Amino acid sequence: MSSERSFIMIKPDGVQRNLVSEIIGRFERRGYKLCGLKMVQPTRQLAESHYADLSERPFFGDLCTFLSSSPVVAMVWAGADVVKQGRTMIGATDPLKSAPGTIRGDLALVTGKNVIHGSDSCENAEKEIALWFKDGEVCNYEQVTAPWIYE
Ligand code: UDP
Ligand code: MG
Repeated sequence: MSSERSFIMIKPDGVQRNLVSEIIGRFERRGYKLCGLKMVQPTRQLAESHYADLSERPFFGDLCTFLSSSPVVAMVWAGADVVKQGRTMIGATDPLKSAPGTIRGDLALVTGKNVIHGSDSCENAEKEIALWFKDGEVCNYEQVTAPWIYE
C-alpha cells in the first residue's frame, strides 16, 4: 500500500460535458482511493496560483479565464504510484497525441479543452492539494478493499 497522493481536477469542460462519473469511475476501478472531492468555481486568483508555473506562457491568460469560467471538480486520489499512473491514465497534454484508452485520448480533441488536470510530481501534488483544500477537507482513512487490491 502507498500513501502517495495526486491532485486530480475535472476542468470546466469535463463538468459541462457530464464526464464527472466517467472520470471518477476510471480512478475508482483502477483501485485508487478517493480522499478528497469538492465542486468549486475557482476564482481567477486561484486559477492563476494553480498555473503559476505557466505564467510566462502566451496561453496563460486564456487558460486562467477558462479554468475560472465554470465549476470544476477538485479531487485527491491516493495509492501506488498515483502521480505517474494518473498522468498515464490522463494521456498527453494534446488530446490528439493521447493514446486511445487514456482519458484525453478517449474524451477530448484539443489542448485548451482537455477535460482534466493531474499533478506532474509528488512535490507539486502536495502543493496543489494545499492550494485547493483546507485542513480537514481531505480524509485519511483505511480503504477496506485494500487487501484485495494490494499484495
Ligand atoms: N495548454 C494550452 N496550450 C498549450 C499548452 C497547454 O492551452 O500550448 C493548457 C492545457 O489545457 C494544459 C494546461 O494548459 O492542460 C497546463 O499545461 P501543462 O503543460 O501543465 O499540461 P498538462 O500537465 O495539463 O498535460
Ligand atoms: Mg501540468
